[in-house]
Amino acid sequence: MFEGPIQDLIDELARLPGIGPKGAQRIAFHILTADKADVERLSDSLRHVAENVRFCERCFNISESETCRICRDPRRDQTAICVVEESKDVMAIERTNEFRGLYHVLGGAISPIDNVGPGDLHIRELVIRLGDGTVTEVILATDPNLEGEATATYLSRLILPMGVTVSRLASGLPVGGDLEYADEVTLGRAFQGRRTLGDPAGARG
Ligand code: ZN
Repeated sequence: MFEGPIQDLIDELARLPGIGPKGAQRIAFHILTADKADVERLSDSLRHVAENVRFCERCFNISESETCRICRDPRRDQTAICVVEESKDVMAIERTNEFRGLYHVLGGAISPIDNVGPGDLHIRELVIRLGDGTVTEVILATDPNLEGEATATYLSRLILPMGVTVSRLASGLPVGGDLEYADEVTLGRAFQGRRTLGDPAGARG
């Protein structure tokens, strides 16, 4: 244990994901000996994020205003929504240049073990967005792991009866992994090769 401010910093850092007590100590001592201007830049950027960055009211992507850059762009295809778990997945898909539609960020995946049910995700908001009939295709781009698959299955059962085409990214993504870890080429191919799930209710008969 150290004294005062340095221990406070170690404690705060240790609460961050992926940083254990040792990592927290290493970062704290790095900050202690770093250039003052560098530390101020880090501190400013933390404050800026806390004060100015929020979630888009429409798609829940990170945003600096009420709606995000993608939702505000009139050139985006308003008839397709790609559903992802986290904002970082939006960045990963944007890098592939395969998709020109809109997004919907769920804020996680269904996971009974972690006590995350459909009600904890932005699913109700997605259903509301589909309500006016503008969107004709929903692409489920949840992670290729157990929770992501369970979430995709849940969503397809919910959305298909609304008469919307539902597709899932093609296999070929590293199974069990996170979408964000797939390289651009693999993710781009998975996007091109997406397969349609079931029949939308409106297309029947
Ligand atoms: Zn948005």
